[in-house]
Amino acid sequence: MIKVLMVASEAAPFAKTGGLADVVGSLPAALRSFDCEVAVLIPRYRAVDLSSARRIYDSLPVWLGGVLHQTSLYQADAATPFYFLEAPSLYDRDGFYGDSDGDYPDNAARFAVLSRAALAVARRVFRPQILHCHDWQSGLVPVYLRTVFAFDPTFLGMKTLFTIHNLGYQGLFPPVVLPRVGLDRRVFKMDGLEFFGQVSFIKGGLNYSDAVSTVSKKYALEIQTPEYGFGLDGVLRARSADLHGILNGVDYGNWDPQTDPHIASHYSAGDLSGKRLCKQALIREFGLPELAMKRPLLGAISRLTPQKGTELIVEIAPQLTAEDLYLVMLGSGDAVYEEALRAAALAHPDRIGVRFGYDEALAHKIEAGADLFLMPSQYEPSGLNQMYSLRYGTVPVVRATGGLDDTIDEGTGFKFQEYSAQAFLAAVRAAAAAYEDRPGWEAMLRRGIRRDFSWRASAAEYAALYQKLLESGENAASFSRIQHQTHLRG
Ligand code: ADP
Repeated sequence: MIKVLMVASEAAPFAKTGGLADVVGSLPAALRSFDCEVAVLIPRYRAVDLSSARRIYDSLPVWLGGVLHQTSLYQADAATPFYFLEAPSLYDRDGFYGDSDGDYPDNAARFAVLSRAALAVARRVFRPQILHCHDWQSGLVPVYLRTVFAFDPTFLGMKTLFTIHNLGYQGLFPPVVLPRVGLDRRVFKMDGLEFFGQVSFIKGGLNYSDAVSTVSKKYALEIQTPEYGFGLDGVLRARSADLHGILNGVDYGNWDPQTDPHIASHYSAGDLSGKRLCKQALIREFGLPELAMKRPLLGAISRLTPQKGTELIVEIAPQLTAEDLYLVMLGSGDAVYEEALRAAALAHPDRIGVRFGYDEALAHKIEAGADLFLMPSQYEPSGLNQMYSLRYGTVPVVRATGGLDDTIDEGTGFKFQEYSAQAFLAAVRAAAAAYEDRPGWEAMLRRGIRRDFSWRASAAEYAALYQKLLESGENAASFSRIQHQTHLRG
């Protein structure tokens, strides 16, 4: 039995803005079959419902930079211990990371407290052998562990894994935050936390953890190149021996057209008739004409950001309508994209339907009702929607990057290489042409539905990596950290 404490900023169903939450929400249960006992710590944002949670720790004080943060701990009523860190002045807000004015100005303290509290949880509540950190919000966990607590016997032999879900979000702050997050200025160096004059929380995760992983094999390679490395490709190349790519899995308990409670009719590879009813319901939901039943209906669900290639969807929208195609899209994010999409829908109300905001039920309806699913991402660490689409018989049209490239092939979808509207449109056209050949199209749907991206394979890889870490003893990285610590003291 390996005990693992995961530290993250989101976990479904308690707090979710994206794929990170899906992973942290469902990986722990999958790991149980591989003899791992996992607990998870996330902040208690206002959105986290405590009605079925119980308070298990009244006072878990966190001292940081001379300030005492009073925190307490709740535990959800679930098979996996999900712990919610309560500190109202830090987390009792509507947004997780910011509001309409942008990122919260105290994010460094908010997530430093989360990271320090994780070590308090590891000391007093759930003592793990592995601390598994996710994204920059937990990047300081390995830093505290290997500096402030380097000689604390409680943590002796504890290993850290840092998983990158998106290298584009790094947690960058001015150097003045260092004392506030309780770190010595001597960590402010190239192979520490310094990043072009700023403090980088993600570099903490990359430089101080025992191993690093990211969420697909292709993305693990891409981030070691300047094109995808966001300035961290050198750091990642230096750690390439400890850098692993493990694809995200799908929680088919939530995403299965045979049982999905959100969709108009259930269906399977053996009987696709229900998919037609789902398409009809979706068309009506968006007020599109019945004529759309005869033509390919394109769907998209995403954060509206440059990463997701939203601009390419905006660019090709007029062309889609000219080619007798239909589009429904759900998203939230940058206002410029919302405006552009709203304008496209206003110009072609009988062709394009858009909905803004976060709507879990509608996301399921789009997955079930669309014929094609669009993901023209600039980069995509893993991507979940293309895997959901396969299971829903909705053929993905994706840019060949990261997890999209690893999960979609000629037999199940359409890929394009160059990040351009032209290349994207060509792939959509190829898909629309294939749609005309009904037997061929249905064979493709069935192949997609039968692909299996469940957590089993990925959980096995994480479990093997945990095991390897525990067997590794004092490796070169920990040795250099001890030297570093000695230097700090000396
Ligand atoms: P990312 O984590 O980069 O946003 P992923 O494809 O890995 O992208 O995961 C996105 C997850 O968030 C999926 O479960 C998707 O259905 C969901 N999602 C994204 N935007 C919305 C939205 N506006 N409404 C409902 N669900 C959404």
